[in-house]
Amino acid sequence: MPEAPKNSLKPTDYNFGEQSKKTLQFIEDATSNPDEVQKKVLEEILSRNAHVEYLQRHGLNGHTDCETFKKLLPVITYEDIQPDINRIANGDTSPILCSKPISEFLTSSGTSGGERKLMPTIEEELGRRSLLYSLLMPVLNQFIPGLEKGKGMYFLFIKSEAQTPGGLLARPVLTSFYKSSHFKNRLFDPYTNYTSPDESILCPDSYQSMYSQMLCGLCQRNEVLRVGAVFASGFIRAIRFLEKHWQLLCNDIRTGIINPQITDPSVREAVMKILKPDPKLADFIEAECNLESWQGIITRLWPNTKYVDVIVTGTMSQYIPTLDYYSNGLPLVCTMYASSECYFGVNLNPLCKPSEVSYTLIPTMAYFEFLPVHRNNGVANFISMPKSLNEKEQQELVDLVDVKLGQEYELVVTTYAGLYRYRVGDVLRVAGFKNKAPQFNFICRKNVVLSIDSDKTDEVELQNAVKNAVNHLVPFDATLAEYTSYADTTTIPGHYVLFWELSFNGSTPIPPSIFEDCCLTVEESLNSVYRQGRGSDKSIGPLEIKIVEPGTFDKLMDYAISLGASINQYKTPRCVKYAPLVELLNSRIMSNYFSPKCPKWIPGHKQWGNKNCN
Ligand code: AMP
Repeated sequence: MPEAPKNSLKPTDYNFGEQSKKTLQFIEDATSNPDEVQKKVLEEILSRNAHVEYLQRHGLNGHTDCETFKKLLPVITYEDIQPDINRIANGDTSPILCSKPISEFLTSSGTSGGERKLMPTIEEELGRRSLLYSLLMPVLNQFIPGLEKGKGMYFLFIKSEAQTPGGLLARPVLTSFYKSSHFKNRLFDPYTNYTSPDESILCPDSYQSMYSQMLCGLCQRNEVLRVGAVFASGFIRAIRFLEKHWQLLCNDIRTGIINPQITDPSVREAVMKILKPDPKLADFIEAECNLESWQGIITRLWPNTKYVDVIVTGTMSQYIPTLDYYSNGLPLVCTMYASSECYFGVNLNPLCKPSEVSYTLIPTMAYFEFLPVHRNNGVANFISMPKSLNEKEQQELVDLVDVKLGQEYELVVTTYAGLYRYRVGDVLRVAGFKNKAPQFNFICRKNVVLSIDSDKTDEVELQNAVKNAVNHLVPFDATLAEYTSYADTTTIPGHYVLFWELSFNGSTPIPPSIFEDCCLTVEESLNSVYRQGRGSDKSIGPLEIKIVEPGTFDKLMDYAISLGASINQYKTPRCVKYAPLVELLNSRIMSNYFSPKCPKWIPGHKQWGNKNCN
């Protein structure tokens, strides 16, 4: 198996040329014989875990070959292993899924029963995640040389963590990574040289974290060669923060003293090492921010920036126009594809257009399988609730090296941490090959209809939430005739919009407060990731209900039929994305209402009690 490159160098003798060469060679090796690497990965996973309860339960009996594995192990979703996960969460330390101790749970933005899915992980997975990160800059350096001469201004954050009843930590994968020694004690590397002090990244207060990261980014503006965040929505939120707080930031730069709102002593100390009184810089920033137009603000304030490093594939593509506006069309670079289950792959052609981004899955990360997605008249076969695969469907899964160019697949992983033939929920399309390893376009997350930040709301969740909300209309003798939804990202942060057409038989008009209650009830009924985004993270704006004129949904149907939809098969789409449909709905609004407050949210799962409440 190709050996992962090791970074064992001290600051003084860091030789990025040598390190980059090793990394690129690793990619060459791993992609040249992916079949062999994948077989070894599976063998290693199965032999180490031969005695775990899950594999025994399925009768694997120590076999480590692909054929027996595929014959005996079912292809599963989260719900299939939820009882095992719950046992681990409740403190059962016997080897249920993995022979190595589960070090913590990673809380996915994918949910089950309204709560974040819990992905088991083991200590050594941090090494695999570090490996994937270490591939990114050597790849980029091939296209944009000289990045080692400056810094990256990245807005990185930790989120709140909870404890399971059995005492394991449950937190998002990035929080786990930033808090690990792999990040905190990273050896000097010009590629992880950020403008943000670690203390700011690790500050649990999101305002203080963002404020201090922005302040340090402004102070070091001339050194900044690249800017970014994990997702596009996060980067736009940072620009929005600057729009709101630039006066305060300029004041700190002018005086060289960080304002008293920043109370975290470690953040203050770290910032004070960077912040020096600089009235000229403060005047300059003030003048730029005072201009009416914020077009190109990135290139104006950080003039040496070569690209914006954010994920704009999948639902994040809705933010491309806004990013183009703020950055004056700088390249938008999507470097990697990863999840709580496993880090998957990297983009080997980082300067390509966002619509052409493809990710090369790194064959050492996990054992990958692919379930073909069949489309009927362009509609994929996964619109309904996920169901177990029958025997024939189980046999359709193919290995990494057997995928076909242009075909779409659902990704299925077997990980070192104890997931076996697990359906991640992502749909990918084969776009090409690097050596013998396939490269995939990210097509979509299955079933997701609405997403603003890391929230993922599916049709069933939306339906239930709307059902709960319309109860408020019963006393007024009004019912919901039709509805659809839309993710409005023209506001910052973006927000969910529901278009409602009512049939109204009563004589008492419905007061606005009732519709506001409806908004809040929808929000209270949505999953925990949405509610956290609304309240704690403030990454999602208040939900809006727009009441449309009677007959609007007939017009929507007429329009769809004029575009070629079959009248017999027409169903109201529960989410609209196509601009003319959104325009049609928006042209027939009678009134609109916003959620008056944030829905309730607590860290951890509801059923863990309120031990975790802050
Ligand atoms: P989480 O488990 O919360 O870390 O979310 C992982 C999910 O985020 C993946 O399964 C994808 O659906 C999505 N995701 C991660 N990386 C990308 C990417 N580069 N492009 C599009 N979607 C992504």
